[in-house]
Amino acid sequence: MTAYDPGRLVPMTTHVPAYAAPAAHAPLERTTVPRRAVGEHDVLIEIKYAGICHSDIHQARDGWGEGIFPMVPGHEIAGVVAETGSGVTKFRVGDRVGVGCFVDSCRTCEHCLRGMEQYCERGATGTYNDHGKDGEPTYGGYSTHVVVDENYTLRIPEGIALDEAAPLLCAGITLYSPLVHWNAGPGKKVAIVGLGGLGHMGVKIAHALGAEVTVLSQSLKKQEDGLRLGADHFHATADPATFETLAGTFDLVVSTVSAPLDLSAYLSLVKTDGALVNVGAPEEPVSLNLFSLINGRRTLAGSMIGSIAETQEMLDFCAAHGLGAEIEVIPADRINEAYERVLASDVRYRFVIDTSTI
Ligand SMILES: [Zn+2]
Ligand SMILES: [Zn+2]
Repeated sequence: MTAYDPGRLVPMTTHVPAYAAPAAHAPLERTTVPRRAVGEHDVLIEIKYAGICHSDIHQARDGWGEGIFPMVPGHEIAGVVAETGSGVTKFRVGDRVGVGCFVDSCRTCEHCLRGMEQYCERGATGTYNDHGKDGEPTYGGYSTHVVVDENYTLRIPEGIALDEAAPLLCAGITLYSPLVHWNAGPGKKVAIVGLGGLGHMGVKIAHALGAEVTVLSQSLKKQEDGLRLGADHFHATADPATFETLAGTFDLVVSTVSAPLDLSAYLSLVKTDGALVNVGAPEEPVSLNLFSLINGRRTLAGSMIGSIAETQEMLDFCAAHGLGAEIEVIPADRINEAYERVLASDVRYRFVIDTSTI
């Protein structure tokens, strides 16, 4: 891929291979998408691996509405820098890099200035299914190359393999941010609800932070895995005795479940001054008896991914502790099959696309 047409002096957009959903609910298929010319502060990334996040499926099937099609999903990107713009100072050709859920933000609002770009007041620019400041649609990681501003590009330390690093860019930071914000660590009891793509990273990270970790899963089917990943305890939520045994136990409960949850039941597991934090989002509104909060001065909260600085901190933390995601690497022609398996919870614990097969 060349950024400049030798016959002209202006930077050229180029087209790169990708897998896209041509319309809502349509299967993904191989195509090409435009990538902008490498600007002064851009890096061209040769994508090596792209994780399949549950929200890719939501968006490709237009579960949240207003999808931009054709859509190239993928916001768990790991690759290598192939070219740098003239003003790039943070990266060199050959560096191992990652891109997460957003590729730009307004850079001037209170949240951006405080380094909390994920909560940008004007909305951070999504890695896909969004429009950049140039007005062009953004296309995600199910592709061979992407051009990203160096300020929204992460460094992947040598300690993590690129395929195992890819899911950290969404699943990893989605759990790391609330665990650190709500002080998971030594002496703290933390419960992770749901042992899927998000939950398995929650168990690994909470354990590495030094917390006592409990998995709350529908059944005991994944108990062996949960304990291997670092959980100290494992309970089935289908068993009503679980909620009696564990009443008032946890400093922090993080729910990764996107199905509607009985919030009162889960809040009853939280200690006085503890918190139930949701990172999974049911599509329907939920109701709650507020006595569940009043009794025990409990907090019900949500959390969305993390900032650029925090994502870098998470990658460095994971490398220092030897943490990567548990993955199943697939060729691109199995993406549609993988989507069905994710919906059936038949993945341990993240599909990662080998983008050399696109
Ligand atoms: Zn995601
Ligand atoms: Zn902003």
